[in-house]
Amino acid sequence: TFKRCPPLPTTSVIIVFHNEAWSTLLRTVYSVLHTSPAVLLKEIILVDDASVDDVLKDELDEYLKRLPIVRVVRQRERKGLITARLLGASVATGDTLTFLDAHCECFNGWLEPLLARIAENYTAVVSPDITTIDLNTFEFMKPSPYGQNHNRGNFDWGLSFGWESLPDQEKRRRRDETYPIRTPTFAGGLFSISKEYFYHIGSYDEEMEIWGGENIEMSFRVWQCGGQLEILPCSIVGHVFRTKSPHTFPKGTQVIARNQVRLAEVWMDNYKEIFYRRNQQAAQMAKDRAFGDVSRRVELRDRLQCKSFSWYLKNVYPEVFMPDLNPLHFGSVKNVGKDSCLDAGENNEGGKQLIMYPCHGLGGNQYFEYSTHHEVRHNIQKELCLHGTEGTVKLEDCQYKGKSTSVAAEQKWELRDKQLFLPGLDMCLSARHEHPTLTTCNPSDRYQLWLFV
Ligand code: UDP
Ligand code: MN
Repeated sequence: TFKRCPPLPTTSVIIVFHNEAWSTLLRTVYSVLHTSPAVLLKEIILVDDASVDDVLKDELDEYLKRLPIVRVVRQRERKGLITARLLGASVATGDTLTFLDAHCECFNGWLEPLLARIAENYTAVVSPDITTIDLNTFEFMKPSPYGQNHNRGNFDWGLSFGWESLPDQEKRRRRDETYPIRTPTFAGGLFSISKEYFYHIGSYDEEMEIWGGENIEMSFRVWQCGGQLEILPCSIVGHVFRTKSPHTFPKGTQVIARNQVRLAEVWMDNYKEIFYRRNQQAAQMAKDRAFGDVSRRVELRDRLQCKSFSWYLKNVYPEVFMPDLNPLHFGSVKNVGKDSCLDAGENNEGGKQLIMYPCHGLGGNQYFEYSTHHEVRHNIQKELCLHGTEGTVKLEDCQYKGKSTSVAAEQKWELRDKQLFLPGLDMCLSARHEHPTLTTCNPSDRYQLWLFV
């Protein structure tokens, strides 16, 4: 069959910002102007999310008079990036919407692949391959032209976004270097979407506030409701990745958990419990139903006849590690003798000893599961297991990774009258010292008694 070049749709570039530096904001704007074909660029819409910095007011308006294709709309009250993007979209006149953060640089030829893919399939929600702009020098890290190692987006069971390399199956599916990469989730700041499809698929949950969770919400929604999320390797945009959020949270950072609860309630079916176990604050909000009204989002899911979360896991992210839906025990692990809790300690990504710490009941570093395979798992970002060798106890990568693997002797614990007994070494977990250790079992030693609470 003969394939025609589809005419490319136009786009409105929408850049939301809150107290962004003048230089990075203008760098983003000029890079769009310098790289986008005029016939495709309908306008650039800057959405000011109630910045307090004066130069971003009159001075910005004055400056932009020389760039008639750029306009500014302002959100009076600080409400966050979700409603800011919605405001930008509501005034956009292009066929497609292209969202960017306010600290980006678009690389030559970034726009056409995004628009071409939407022309080909209007249910495709497409992101550029995002490269790094150095946080300190602001240098643009030019991608190497061939054989790049691409990443895709994923999520963990704390519902944080992350990057991972492509699994073999996805590498095989892509016939050449230009092929779209299917991604389970997207970073969410930089993407293009047909404007009509944006509204058809439910735009955003407008009751989400400030920052966080909206990209995971949109990822689940797009896949479950019949669309697809893709990264297009021929489209390259740089972004300044920051190590810490610079934003203030007027109502506190619990709005992030609230956003996450909203998405879990609407899209995750029973799997939401896996998240709630790992985030006590979210669990409490869900229990108190203190996350606002989600009925309109549930209606949307019904109206679009979206598929289940288990369909999503099976078809879009089969590589996901599935924690037990019903672990034998979970929560914090309290020591009877010491009256404090087993704790992973700061930044323990495996290889480090644990500590004993006053029980705080928030989950996080004190969250453990006693799995159906008798491991003691600490599994929020990574699947880490309590790993005992002669003398020391550390967190290590779990050896059991699902079918066709087995639990290592160092990670298989028996719960025996409150003792955590490691049959492989015939020893018990003790909290007598600064770090939890293994020692000869003695049922009358209260430092060897543990409770899941
Ligand atoms: N932003 C906003 N209002 C907020 C928080 C963020 O308008 O309350 C803007 C911010 O200026 C940026 C975009 O939203 O252009 C994404 O935020 P950020 O870059 O902090 O997110 P990250 O890239 O770190 O995930
Ligand atoms: Mn950003």
